[in-house]
Amino acid sequence: MTVQGLFSGRANAAAQISAVPRVAIVGRGFSGMMTAIALMKTVRTPFHLQLFDPNSSVSGGQALASARASTILNTRVRDLSVAVGDSDDFNDWLCSNAAFRAAVPAAIPGFRQIFVPKEIFSDYVYQRFSEALAARRDITVQVCNDPVVAIRRSHGNRFLLESANPANPLFDTVILATGYGLSDPHAEEPDVSPIRAQRLVARPHAVLLGSGIRVVDQLLQLRDSGYAGQVTIISRHGFLPQSHTPNSADPVFPAEALPEGLPDIMRFIRQACREAEEQGRSWQSVMNGLRKHARSLWRSLPARDKHQFNRHLRAIYDSHRNRLPEAMHLRLQRELAEGRTVLRRGRAGRRGLSGLFFTPAGSSAEEVLHAERIIDCRCQAPDLSAPLMQSLFSAGLAMPDELSLGLAVTARGEPFLEDGSTVAGLFAVGPLGLGSLPDIDLVPEIVSQAYAAAERIGECFYPQVKAV
Ligand SMILES: Cc1cc2nc3c(=O)[nH]c(=O)nc-3n(C[C@H](O)[C@H](O)[C@H](O)COP(=O)(O)OP(=O)(O)OC[C@H]3O[C@@H](n4cnc5c(N)ncnc54)[C@H](O)[C@@H]3O)c2cc1C
Repeated sequence: MTVQGLFSGRANAAAQISAVPRVAIVGRGFSGMMTAIALMKTVRTPFHLQLFDPNSSVSGGQALASARASTILNTRVRDLSVAVGDSDDFNDWLCSNAAFRAAVPAAIPGFRQIFVPKEIFSDYVYQRFSEALAARRDITVQVCNDPVVAIRRSHGNRFLLESANPANPLFDTVILATGYGLSDPHAEEPDVSPIRAQRLVARPHAVLLGSGIRVVDQLLQLRDSGYAGQVTIISRHGFLPQSHTPNSADPVFPAEALPEGLPDIMRFIRQACREAEEQGRSWQSVMNGLRKHARSLWRSLPARDKHQFNRHLRAIYDSHRNRLPEAMHLRLQRELAEGRTVLRRGRAGRRGLSGLFFTPAGSSAEEVLHAERIIDCRCQAPDLSAPLMQSLFSAGLAMPDELSLGLAVTARGEPFLEDGSTVAGLFAVGPLGLGSLPDIDLVPEIVSQAYAAAERIGECFYPQVKAV
């Protein structure tokens, strides 16, 4: 569904737009859509909302749009509600969805513990967006299919957005929700020549690059579509996602204060996992409990420890927090045990005519992995060299975080500067803040941040009345 279809009857409202605050959301992935929902539900005064993204229809961005329909999300239904304070909202939506109910065994009474395909989550987000919009006759929404290339401060502390449209109006508030950035159609190197590769490759062989959920997803997609060849997964650190527990793992975490310093913190967490297992609980419960402490813990670490974590421990942390539904994990383990898929640790180099140049970990000698397919499943980080980001830095509107993983932001997504000050009216929601806020790439954290930002925006538009 595209948003344009929703607004045909709203054209007469256009004349009133200039009188109300203007809000721009740059990016229509999950973070952008979620912030739009939060604004419509939270800000009680009229406003005009403009959504920018070159993806031609409202989409779930990298996370929700590109993957095949049946890709399973790796978060349980109970953690995917877009209604703040109502963790049952997605479950209720599924229960009232006749098509979904008919497709699952009647024996399943509710869906809080299950994992669902991306397309269903995406439908739910669109529907909640449409409902929020339908309930607000005082809001106008406009969709622009241009990428935003620069943002500048203009007179009256408003923002000028540069895109292909030279006549963009000024905005009072801008929310950056650009996630992992624009996908560059020219970035992919040409595929290995199938004819040449087939001559050189004795047995069909596919190489998958990456180690997160996407690589496992791609492997299972290949198998489901009948691919019987050998698969090699190339991972820099060699950690594949761990498994979820069969039932939800309620968060637990020791009550004692955490020690200082990275090595002691690691020992503390390992010990907590061991004790949880001895008491009949799971290490997954401890990892879920750790999420509640992650922000204060991250803030307390000196820059040196943050760098060390990023270089040596992030891959392990990610493999334990971004877990696979048990059934998927079992399939992965079977693939590895039977040798049909092999995990190799090392660095992927350039592509050659018949495969990929590869340097195994601990070696300096490059070898060639002959393969007829090379699929890049690495998750990109936000691109700080993109013109949009560079424009923010040069205008003094934002700065990179300590690790240059994204922008330095507060919990509600306000970019902050060297002296700790923030720029009124500017927000960055979602993975753009990953260097400042651990787990801000996950749905529950994005939902909370979107509502916190919306509440702040509501207060600014109508300072006398606290946003409801
Ligand atoms: C395969 C996969 C599975 C996942 N599963 C889960 C899960 O089960 N549970 C969970 O909690 N999280 C999951 N995540 C993570 C989470 O969903 C994402 O981190 C989150 O959705 C990020 O969305 P986003 O909108 O911030 O970014 P993106 O999805 O990257 O979207 C950004 C959008 O911004 C647009 N854009 C970028 N630059 C510009 C510009 N200059 N101008 C205009 N538009 C621009 C892009 O075109 C894109 O549409 C998953 C992620 C992936 C990749």
